Amino acid sequence: METLLVSACLLGYPCKYCGGSSNFIGDEKWAALKERYRLVSVCPEFAGGLPTPRDPSERVGDRVVSNHGADVTENYRRGAETALALCRRFGCKKALLKAKSPSCGRDFIYDGSFSGTLTEGHGVTAELLLENDVVVFSEKELESLL
Ligand code: SF4
Repeated sequence: METLLVSACLLGYPCKYCGGSSNFIGDEKWAALKERYRLVSVCPEFAGGLPTPRDPSERVGDRVVSNHGADVTENYRRGAETALALCRRFGCKKALLKAKSPSCGRDFIYDGSFSGTLTEGHGVTAELLLENDVVVFSEKELESLL
């Protein structure tokens, strides 16, 4: 069975920055994914040593900064390295990652102004996986994985 790396919050883990599990994809889609893949879950921000709940953070150039000005770049890098290590360990060639997140987002992320404005770019984990030939899907593309 093929393996798929998945953002843990999409599977209902309450690891979102504000806590809670509102990113859950729902029972039906979760069951469909489980039928098709061996799922490997990761929350890069938690894996990188950040607590839940935590301050929201956004990418600012090469850095990641919280809304209170704390530099959390190293936490994000460690989390990305953990996600890549899991892909290598379990042979995941695809990942289903949460859109817009400064860790997991692909193509568009928040622009660092904490105003809800999106800009082109990848989250730190999505970027590292893409650089290492993992095909990254967002939850908006989940159907194409089934
Ligand atoms: Fe979800 Fe990724 Fe944010 Fe963790 S880092 S809460 S997996 S979007």
